[in-house]
Amino acid sequence: MFSGKTEELIRRLRQATFAKRRVQTFKPRIDNRYDTDRVVSHMGVAIEALAVPNSAALRTRIDPATQVVGVDEAQFFDAGIVELAEELADRGVRILLAGLDQDYLGVPFAPMPQLMAVAEIVTKVYAVCAVCGAPATRSQRIVKQTATILVGGAEAYEPRCRQCFQRRDVPAESPR
Ligand code: ZN
Repeated sequence: MFSGKTEELIRRLRQATFAKRRVQTFKPRIDNRYDTDRVVSHMGVAIEALAVPNSAALRTRIDPATQVVGVDEAQFFDAGIVELAEELADRGVRILLAGLDQDYLGVPFAPMPQLMAVAEIVTKVYAVCAVCGAPATRSQRIVKQTATILVGGAEAYEPRCRQCFQRRDVPAESPR
C-alpha cells in the first residue's frame, strides 16, 4: 500500500519500451479501482494494461513476439501465475511482477511468496507508517471487513510498520 510498487513497475516497463523491447502489461480483472485498460498508481501514473480474470487467460493473451511482460497486483492471481512466470523466464522473456507480499492480517499473500522464491531479483519497496513514520511493511485495514480480498485505497487501508500494525479483523484504533 502506497509504497510506490506500481510506480516502480511502470518505471521499469517504460525503460523497456524506451529500449525498444516489445512489452505487454497485465493486471487482474478484480482490481477496477482506477481503470480497466491501464495500470494506474496511487500517484496517478498510468500505463496501458490488459485486465485478465486469471493466469490461464493471461497465458492466452501473451503475444509470441513479446519480450517483456509486466503484471501488477500479482497477489490477486491464482497459483498458476508462478508456473507461467517460470515458463516465460525459461523462454528468455523478462517478467516483472508487482504485488503485496502480505495480506491485511500480515500473512504471506499467495502466490507472492512462491514468486519471490523463484525470482532472480526481489525489490521490496516501503511506504511510510501512517502512525509513527517508520518504513511501513504492512497494510492495516481500517474498515470492518474480514474478506481476505478487499480492494480499496486510502479509505480501506493505511501503511503501518511492524510495531504499529495490529493483527485483527476489526478496524484498528490508532495506537497514538
Ligand atoms: Zn509505525
